[in-house]
Amino acid sequence: MTEAVEPSYELFIGGASIPSSSGERQTLIDPANNRPLAAVARGHADDARHAMEVAQAAFEASWWASDDGARRGKTLFRLAQKLEERLEEFARLETLNMGKTLRESRGDVGFVVRTLEYAAGLADKIQGETIPVPGARLDLTLREPLGVTVHIAPWNYPLLLAMRSVAPALAAGNAVVLKPASLTPLTALALGRMSKEALVPDGIFNVVPGPGKDVGETLVADARCRSVSFTGGGTAGRRIAEVAAQHVVPATLELGGKGPVVVLPDADLDRAARGVAFGIFGNAGQMCWAGSRLLAHESVAETLLSKIARIAEKYALGPGVAEGVEMGPLVSREHLESVLQFITEAEASGAKVVAGGRRATDAPLQEGNFLRPTVLSQLPAPARVLKEEVFGPVLSAATFTDTDDAVRQANDTRYGLFASVWTKELAHAIPLARRLESGMVSINEAPSTFPQTPFAGFKESGLGFEQGIDSVRSYTRRKNVLINYSLPKPKN
Ligand code: NAD
Repeated sequence: MTEAVEPSYELFIGGASIPSSSGERQTLIDPANNRPLAAVARGHADDARHAMEVAQAAFEASWWASDDGARRGKTLFRLAQKLEERLEEFARLETLNMGKTLRESRGDVGFVVRTLEYAAGLADKIQGETIPVPGARLDLTLREPLGVTVHIAPWNYPLLLAMRSVAPALAAGNAVVLKPASLTPLTALALGRMSKEALVPDGIFNVVPGPGKDVGETLVADARCRSVSFTGGGTAGRRIAEVAAQHVVPATLELGGKGPVVVLPDADLDRAARGVAFGIFGNAGQMCWAGSRLLAHESVAETLLSKIARIAEKYALGPGVAEGVEMGPLVSREHLESVLQFITEAEASGAKVVAGGRRATDAPLQEGNFLRPTVLSQLPAPARVLKEEVFGPVLSAATFTDTDDAVRQANDTRYGLFASVWTKELAHAIPLARRLESGMVSINEAPSTFPQTPFAGFKESGLGFEQGIDSVRSYTRRKNVLINYSLPKPKN
């Protein structure tokens, strides 16, 4: 066991750490060395139902859902401040559990602090409108919290992706039940406990780790669930939408991607190479919005590819907690095997491995799930790596001849989450950006987002949105109130 991590964690329900109803525990594994890290209570359907009951009771009884948005905002600012004070500790916990570098974890926790502050600032700006209607009538709308909202998070940005929907839901006055990914529940549980110190009322913020099918589906199927926000893969996302539809509950889905990176002939190639590398090797490529398909103009492709390969070969791999490390391990042995399988198949189909393509086997990395940053080229059109999300540090490179060809190739995917365009000429970039079927497009910038900018996918990448000015309102419902203020007609 590592000293920065407590040996054992419980569920967080009703403002208290409690064991699961079955008493079962799951051992978490440090992905940097595959040794046991901590034991966590494994929630089951009974625990999920208990959390929903507690959350509903807190929603009805506490001040949280009242019209005092300023008080809610103040409480969330307090939570943000406490988190900022312990940013280093949370970053370390995230790194040990998930594998990403400390620098990446610090960025993630900082983003959560900003998300809480942003949502806190919106908490007292939730307001309805008055609508002109004929006669002696006044029509107005009220914005009310939904009730109990369910949030299901993946393992690649464990705390960040959980809190980008939890923070606005809390700011809007809802009670929240969060199910973190089974592999990475530690920071969410630690933040649940911190919410109590910040004076969030007991039962308003609950965290129930456990298997997706059992805990996740039970939460969504529960009659008290008023909305679900899901971030994860397409298979689970479709299932959640189905379960939510059974009792007509809205589901926000943030799913996978297969992001194209289009490099035009006039791009600054050094800058583009650094951006492409960051967009696929950051977080060891375990990003929904990774730029995993490079589309370079044929006149610059070779030069660009060799620049990217040089960057890839220099990446310092190691345990995320070690100083100077630029890429940590993949999250699990099983996931490493799945990413390696893509590379093996690509090689067998005749692809060229321009960089990486293998595990890091030098001591002590051979104990962990380390994969060298990989660049593949000359891929045959049906290659699986071109179509499916790899979710690892694997770049597939191709060329295009003209803008129409670039657009056709970029949009030739069932996903539509993120794309980037690299050029010195905005007159080229903007029309191209408009033609890309992606919820987010960056020009001369690797994947970047802020709490105030919307995050959403087109096509099979998702439904609905997170973040941005409308995030808090999206966790409210609108009620129309019509008042007739006419005086009774005098009787003669
Ligand atoms: P996953 O779908 O396996 O799991 C995500 C969460 O859903 C986990 O908490 C899991 O336990 C739960 N779950 C699984 N099956 C469920 C079910 N039937 N009912 C309820 N809950 C269930 O995804 P993952 O492997 O954790 O994450 C990787 C995926 O997430 C990738 O596809 C990636 O692109 C996607 N992702 C999308 C975004 C985005 O914002 N669009 C961000 C990050 C990750």
